[in-house]
Amino acid sequence: MSDKSPAAAGQSSTDVLIAGGGIMGLWAALEADRAGLSTLLIDAGALAGGASGGLLGALMPHMPDRWNDKKQLQFDALLSLEGEIAALEAETGLSAGYRRAGRLIPLPKPHLRKIAERHQAEAASNWNQQGVRFSWDVLDASPHPDWPNSDMAEAGLVSDTFAARVSPRGLTALLIARLRRSPRVTFREGVALAAIHTERGRVTLSDGSLVGFGHLIVAGGHASFPLLSSLGPALARPLGQAVKGQAALLAAPSVSSELPLLYLDGLYIVPHEGGLVAIGSTSEDQFDAPHSTDRQLESLISRAMELAPRLAGAAVVERWAGLRPKAIDRDPMVGPHPSAERVIALTGGFKVSFGLAHVLARAAVGTIVGREAGLPESFSTAHHLAVAAKLG
Ligand SMILES: Cc1cc2nc3c(=O)[nH]c(=O)nc-3n(C[C@H](O)[C@H](O)[C@H](O)COP(=O)(O)OP(=O)(O)OC[C@H]3O[C@@H](n4cnc5c(N)ncnc54)[C@H](O)[C@@H]3O)c2cc1C
Repeated sequence: MSDKSPAAAGQSSTDVLIAGGGIMGLWAALEADRAGLSTLLIDAGALAGGASGGLLGALMPHMPDRWNDKKQLQFDALLSLEGEIAALEAETGLSAGYRRAGRLIPLPKPHLRKIAERHQAEAASNWNQQGVRFSWDVLDASPHPDWPNSDMAEAGLVSDTFAARVSPRGLTALLIARLRRSPRVTFREGVALAAIHTERGRVTLSDGSLVGFGHLIVAGGHASFPLLSSLGPALARPLGQAVKGQAALLAAPSVSSELPLLYLDGLYIVPHEGGLVAIGSTSEDQFDAPHSTDRQLESLISRAMELAPRLAGAAVVERWAGLRPKAIDRDPMVGPHPSAERVIALTGGFKVSFGLAHVLARAAVGTIVGREAGLPESFSTAHHLAVAAKLG
């Protein structure tokens, strides 16, 4: 009897095994389900308990200038996400807290206004397609009093009508609810992928069990990098890293959930439903304590109060930290591993996973069902591995 047979090994087996139940793994499970594949979704902890269980949920487009394939992909993804979420909300009766609220970006200096005016013209062509038109307009003053602080917008401000927000916990809960309805999808929480035996098409899990797979999607966030590096030739450098981020949630009942997001120099202020406002984020390459918050978050909250005086007196209801997955060449890492074609990476969304995950997951599952992935070459697993193979 062949050792390659899952039954022979006395193990369970599945068409698709997904390791990691964050935003990437959840969309992948949905795509696999839609393709009619039996799917086992495992997570080392709780579903959506990693970086995807955060607070911010900003869906920010790239700048409208210097248009390229990546910007087009993100444009298409941010556009299609709205319909995807509406369909899932209708199916489950739950809300993802999504709104295309737009964003205001204060311009503190006159030279920034000149640049913004150039982008206004570029948005008029690049953000005007497929029957929709979004703008990047330069305004003299905000249409919303004290949102942001006019002292910080001396040269005016940009109004971007494309940006949106979603509740990270709302969207992941929606996806989990939808997946739980499917007879094809099963879950195992608190069990990690421990070792991949590519030649046998099976994995060992942290509880010692063996699971056979037709395809394995590695969607373990930053933990995907060492798992994927364990396959194929040794690499000169790590395939990716974890970048810590801290964020806070404020109770600010006087801030309407319909207000646009505010953005200035890495600081995001994101109004959510229910009188809540999220503030983020730090970006830390070096850190000792992955999940604790510190003075860096307090200084971000102070900056937010200055940028948005309407937040004065708002109570902090939650402080949170998580680890973003950043692949070695910065773009997402999606697609088959060249040394193990049935092992597919789905990670590296870094700061923009929520806007792209549905498209990246569709591409990952597409490689299983023979659909053209249609992603830029720089997103491929092979590309990132080639970069990691070279000495820095
Ligand atoms: C403070 C902060 C603010 C952010 N703000 C935004 C934002 O506004 N907009 C945006 O788009 N993105 C934002 N991000 C980034 C976004 O949260 C991440 O890019 C995204 O959540 C990554 O999703 P993921 O599914 O790849 O990883 P994760 O959500 O981390 O999921 C990976 C899962 O895999 C599991 N796992 C790990 N190892 C294994 C294993 N061996 N076996 C099985 N399971 C395993 C983990 O338990 C985890 O549940 C932010 C991140 C942070 C930290």
